Amino acid sequence: MPELPEVETIKETLQDIVGLKIEDIKLFKPEYIRCWQNQPDAYVGRRFAAVSRRGKFLIFDFEEGLHMVAHLGMSGRIYLESRGAELEKHVHVVFSFSNGQELWFQDARRFGGLWLIKEPREMFTAMGVEPLSSRFSSSYLTPLLKNRRVAIKTLLLNQRLISGIGNIYADEALFKARILPNRAAGSLQPKEIHRLVRAVKQVLRAGIEQRGTTLRDFQDGYKQKGQFQDYLKVYGREKEPCFDCRQPILRQVINGRSSHFCPCCQK
Ligand SMILES: [Zn+2]
Repeated sequence: MPELPEVETIKETLQDIVGLKIEDIKLFKPEYIRCWQNQPDAYVGRRFAAVSRRGKFLIFDFEEGLHMVAHLGMSGRIYLESRGAELEKHVHVVFSFSNGQELWFQDARRFGGLWLIKEPREMFTAMGVEPLSSRFSSSYLTPLLKNRRVAIKTLLLNQRLISGIGNIYADEALFKARILPNRAAGSLQPKEIHRLVRAVKQVLRAGIEQRGTTLRDFQDGYKQKGQFQDYLKVYGREKEPCFDCRQPILRQVINGRSSHFCPCCQK
């Protein structure tokens, strides 16, 4: 599933369409649009004004105050193609631009979607802090962990507390912070909370630097794979030796999510 670094990478590549005018919109699967506050026709003839990100969502702004929000779900892809290219499977929506480029929204498993929405901020009122912002700090996290028995891994995935972290980067951050994923959140000591905040920021930044993690589906707006899969320390490495201590990496399902950790390096 695309997480913050993958969505950020797509956002960066889509800066190239800012300023282009939409000539046509094709809906092959109208139900892929989750919210119809605006009709698709309203976007035709408008220019893209900006593309930004909030958590795992992309926000597209158009001229004259029109907006669209996109979520990639489990396997969604958003990428540029040339007009006339043979339509690929599972492409549900196509935007055509006046310069001959097209933006394709593809999603084989259809957990993602598009929201043609008037006020995108309304969608994000209950969303947690951006982990790369200065608001995500030990002083933010400490009261959230207090007396909580929930596993720290589960808490990191809670989008209402922190937005954009998914399974891969949660496992990697906990390894970097030397904290076991099933530790009760309330048991973390101040030093550990400090290490965790730093580790979350470091792994997300490294993920962005490597243009995301491609295990199966992920690609950027130009259909290029990410490279962070080559830097994973624990995720997907069950039974392989820990790079630091050579103990085999273990996998454990925590609250329904596959979690990978080193039983020796993480406490
Ligand atoms: Zn180890």
